[in-house]
Amino acid sequence: MQLTNLTIQEAHELLTSKKISSVELTQATLDRIHEVDKKVKSYVTVTDELALEQAKQADERIAKGENITPLTGIPFSMKDCISTRNVRTTCSSKILENYVPQYNATVTNKLADSGAVLVGKTNMDEFGMGSSTENSGLFTTRNPWDLERVPGGSSGGAAASMSAGLCNFAIGEDTGGSVRTPAGFCGVTGIKPTYGRVSRYGLIALASSFDGIGPLARDVYDCATVFEAIAGNDPHDSTTYASPVPNYTANIDKPVKGMKLGIPKEYFVAGMEAGVESSIQEAIRQFEKLGMEIHEVSLPHTKYGLPVYYLLLFAEASANLARMDGTRFGLSVSEGAKDVIDIYLKTRHEGFGDEVKRRIMLGAYALSSGYYDAYYLKAQKVRTLLRRDFESAFASVDVLLAPVCPTTAFKIGEKTDDPLEMYLSDIYTVATNPAGVPALAVPCGFSNNMPVGMQLIGKHLDEQTLFQVGHAYQQVTDWHTKMPSL
Ligand code: GLN
Repeated sequence: MQLTNLTIQEAHELLTSKKISSVELTQATLDRIHEVDKKVKSYVTVTDELALEQAKQADERIAKGENITPLTGIPFSMKDCISTRNVRTTCSSKILENYVPQYNATVTNKLADSGAVLVGKTNMDEFGMGSSTENSGLFTTRNPWDLERVPGGSSGGAAASMSAGLCNFAIGEDTGGSVRTPAGFCGVTGIKPTYGRVSRYGLIALASSFDGIGPLARDVYDCATVFEAIAGNDPHDSTTYASPVPNYTANIDKPVKGMKLGIPKEYFVAGMEAGVESSIQEAIRQFEKLGMEIHEVSLPHTKYGLPVYYLLLFAEASANLARMDGTRFGLSVSEGAKDVIDIYLKTRHEGFGDEVKRRIMLGAYALSSGYYDAYYLKAQKVRTLLRRDFESAFASVDVLLAPVCPTTAFKIGEKTDDPLEMYLSDIYTVATNPAGVPALAVPCGFSNNMPVGMQLIGKHLDEQTLFQVGHAYQQVTDWHTKMPSL
């Protein structure tokens, strides 16, 4: 039996009927990582010993019939910006290359409590800054569908580990598309949560008012299963919602007939790859066949999405990254330093990559006196307009459909010389984060032999509708079942 491309549901069934043990499943996953990940390079750290220990404990839980959750004994990977006690957490940056947290993120604790098995930490663009994982300060991850192409970013390691069968689910993080773009490029399902639905405690911040942790999985059902386990109020994160987490999977089968699907006209403009456009149109027809009503809607401020997102991100990131100064944790370059200021300068000079330095400089500029009103404050005002766009669209429809990205995965090196070109690949994903609304990426076809992703965007806290609509689609299509041959 091939154990490494099972859905969570399938693996859970095999584990609880005792046809396989978690130790067997985990060992098979680790073996495949050691064989295949030489090519894909999705993992920064593989936690063999810890994984087998957690798998043993999961098997004991199952043997006793105690405390079994849908994730007990299931191997998963974690993006390397989420804190794991005693396991190196690098953010794929030289500045944190040897940093070992002393505490767990809330998400890490929740998954440990559910009995899931951590097999390793995945590569990313440094501190989440990028759309291709080429900005990793450690190495570049490859797309399992074509090793010459990028996996998307910044959670490229997470998506590649999922797509290549190197875990049964992956935990990613999305500040402006970092779960959805790599999910789309690698042909897997992934969700960016409503801001505040999943605790950010222990997540190394990129932009604190945008960041959201979300799962990537084989299908929508699995995504909902993991989401249920990690969502919820957390006393350590005062931005989390107090409202209880619904049982998403219990209602996932409800029919979508009669629901209203909005197509934002600003998202269908010149420049989209023909195969992406036709896949999206075909998906719209599928929803029509499922009985949904299709309506064109307008999100008039869409063109400000990219500038607002990047301005605010630079500002927040420049403040967040001030703590990486060589005196607290991670790299410290003190040789030849005259004083503590010199240690800051040397450490940050050596520890940060080019994209990180670029963003810190631009952020500090946008926040500086004299420019604050013109840039930062203005961007915050336009952010409110972006949010209102979504609110007024949702007054007439239940869910929005858009492409994840105007193209499929591009060639490694194709955009690295031009940061603006790289930022443009986020054109469809960035507006949701300033607005705080949830969005689910679902595979919906192929263009030039590479996967195409669509996103379903929902109202605040309405992940339920996204899961229901995405699941209905996956009941009548099989794009999510396709896997690359490696
Ligand atoms: N591409 C976006 C950026 O570079 C996405 C970042 C993210 O979601 N972490 O900022």
